[in-house]
Amino acid sequence: MKNQFLFLGSGGSTGVPLIGCNCAVCRSKDPHDKRLRPSGLLQVKGKNFLIDVGPDFREQALKYEISHIDGILITHSHFDHIGGLDDLRAFNFLQKQKIPCLLSIETFDELKLRYHYLIRDQKEGETVCADLDFHILDKDFGEIEFQGLVWDFVSFYQGEMKVTGFRLGDFAYISDIREFTEEVYDALVGVKTLVVSAAKPSEILIARGVAKRHLSIEEAIDFSERINASKTWITHIGHEIGHEEVIRELPQGISLAYDGLAIEF
Ligand SMILES: [Zn+2]
Ligand SMILES: [Zn+2]
Repeated sequence: MKNQFLFLGSGGSTGVPLIGCNCAVCRSKDPHDKRLRPSGLLQVKGKNFLIDVGPDFREQALKYEISHIDGILITHSHFDHIGGLDDLRAFNFLQKQKIPCLLSIETFDELKLRYHYLIRDQKEGETVCADLDFHILDKDFGEIEFQGLVWDFVSFYQGEMKVTGFRLGDFAYISDIREFTEEVYDALVGVKTLVVSAAKPSEILIARGVAKRHLSIEEAIDFSERINASKTWITHIGHEIGHEEVIRELPQGISLAYDGLAIEF
């Protein structure tokens, strides 16, 4: 059986359309231009893993009929990646157990603040959560056994925020990457199917003069070429990118993801 990755959402933090926006992409009738917040469902050896649980999670779970979750991997604690954590309760009801959740120590510490009502410090150093069973990464790079599979993980930064990327065999999911070390490339040698985030074309980032939080499309292409992935899917896409128009310009082997796209690896 092939492993599969389903894009539950391919949009950036605002989703597309952006509330109140009248741009051509936000008004587009092309279903590829309708993007929920970024996350995915990884199906491996009959097990279901969620990568991130964004604020559109409830809608995504209903739309794609997700009825069981074996584990969750969280990249970082920005709202567009964790805003749906409360909705995991449905799976606690269904599965009658805590859902295993893999994340960095920094992300865990942030979750304790943002979801203080879900995760409580009972005694000093001891946390209690009725819904999630936390598996915590206490270093930046390495591998870990999680739910019967061996995962590699890498760390990088988006501004001050530490972000974790996950690799399973020759598949890797690298979201919200901005600053990173060569070690990231080293850890991704041999990846054939790469999912990487890129928000906008570079001329928009330059024109706005804003602090860059994401790779541009051009930088994502360079990143993919450096890793030498055979197939790269760009995700976390903003409303500055019209699917039809941009996809034609991309080099062979690199494409834009869209909501509902299922890829095999
Ligand atoms: Zn994000
Ligand atoms: Zn727009």
